Amino acid sequence: MLIGGEWRQAAGHEEIEVVNPATEEVVGAVPKASAEDVELAVATAKRAFGEWSRTDVEKRAAIVARAAALVEEHAKDLAATLTSEQGKPLAEAMGEVTHLAHGLHYYAEAATKVRGAHQELPSAFGPAYGMVIRRPMGVCAAITPYNFPLTLLGTKVAPALVAGNTVVAKPASTTPLATLGVARLFAEAGLPDGVLNVVTGRGSEIGDVLVGHPDVRRIAFTGETETGRHLMSVAGPLMKRVTLELGGSDPVIVCADADVEAAVKAVIIGRYWNAGQACLGCKRVYVEEPVYDAFVSALVERVGRYEPGDGTVKAEKPRLRMGPIHTREARDTLLAQIEDGGGEVLVGGGTGEHDKGWFLEPAVVAEPRADSRLVREEVFGPVLPVFRFAEFDDAIARANDTRYGLGSSIWTHDVRKIHRAAQDIDAGMTWVNQIHYGYDELPFGGIKDSGFGKEHGLEALDSYVELKSVVVGGLA
Ligand code: NAD
Repeated sequence: MLIGGEWRQAAGHEEIEVVNPATEEVVGAVPKASAEDVELAVATAKRAFGEWSRTDVEKRAAIVARAAALVEEHAKDLAATLTSEQGKPLAEAMGEVTHLAHGLHYYAEAATKVRGAHQELPSAFGPAYGMVIRRPMGVCAAITPYNFPLTLLGTKVAPALVAGNTVVAKPASTTPLATLGVARLFAEAGLPDGVLNVVTGRGSEIGDVLVGHPDVRRIAFTGETETGRHLMSVAGPLMKRVTLELGGSDPVIVCADADVEAAVKAVIIGRYWNAGQACLGCKRVYVEEPVYDAFVSALVERVGRYEPGDGTVKAEKPRLRMGPIHTREARDTLLAQIEDGGGEVLVGGGTGEHDKGWFLEPAVVAEPRADSRLVREEVFGPVLPVFRFAEFDDAIARANDTRYGLGSSIWTHDVRKIHRAAQDIDAGMTWVNQIHYGYDELPFGGIKDSGFGKEHGLEALDSYVELKSVVVGGLA
């Protein structure tokens, strides 16, 4: 673990093994942090806050920019580490590293452009100026999940650091290695000791200590809805500033006038990238009757090209490599969800022939029951339910019939339908004729059980500062 610039063992000298989900081989081991280690990390981050918060923003931004450049330089190594612990194919891991670097650059640049405001105030109490200044908050906790360990680290750490905060990051216990690699690059970039600390360990054991610590003022969490709900029960009474990026069940509406070919291509990436282990994705597709058959047959043909396997080995063209499911339990959940769905499995859905690893053949399921687990729950894997619709209003109603509200998309060129989707789909984000992709430039986040608060964009930068109003009077 990295605490105060030192690479440390856990206080209790225990370790957690990291396992490659494609081969079931142990690829590393990290310290199993205890409450004592978390206490030390937070105390260290608190000490480092004094000087870092007073460091010139240009200097803070330059260090983050240097870290971004180092991430680019070491992209291949980071990607290989990510593949070995997470399972995603190397090309996808490279994509994630590139996205991380882009996000770091974005905040390094943005930080130097954002300034407070001042204005003349009404003269009721004599002439006065009002200023709005932006103060860093203190120690921030960055808690990340296993599916995109690096991009989701960047979306928290970059805005936190450039805004003058210090950070204690806690990666998922199954994917800590690439995160530690990035922390090493931040240190190499000149980040002072203690400004970014990484504790490795199980969330169920150290999460509450970190989240409930009185010196942690801001918590950025990405993970499951139930974990987020628990986290709020700890952080809420303590009045902490929290952002929660939780699960999703994004609907996609494909209208009869859509470019079906483009929609299929986007849905393929949106559902099967990262073996479907994405919060944001195409999780339920509603297709208007006239184009349903064309859409589904093109979809099934492409999904059938996937070949689940070890992410370090490329598939022979035209086959496409898909990585494993991250854990055996997660794969079992997916099998149970397919079973409960009750629809027609058009392709995939089996485990395939593998000596080792937790694989699932990517699946398309036509018309599962609306009240089944496959439709009601978050499906965190490569399984896509497809439905037909006849009336646009009905498609919107079914899209909204979920406890989640992260992303959504619509495929049409009818401006009225685009407007309806933008206004009426209950989600934090709607894409039009576009794949569900989290641009660094645009606020990202959900509503309902998908959480609250935004990552990405200048809005996220704002969520790492306290705006303070200052009135300067006595001018007359
Ligand atoms: P998870 O909730 O199991 O774990 C996420 C992190 O929380 C891990 O670091 C874990 O160790 C930690 N944790 C566990 N218990 C904790 C506690 N009591 N206090 C504090 N931290 C604790 O999630 P996961 O299975 O790693 O990730 C998959 C989930 O993440 C899916 O539901 C997915 O939709 C969601 N996700 C959401 C977004 C988004 O932006 N909305 C992005 C990616 C993933």
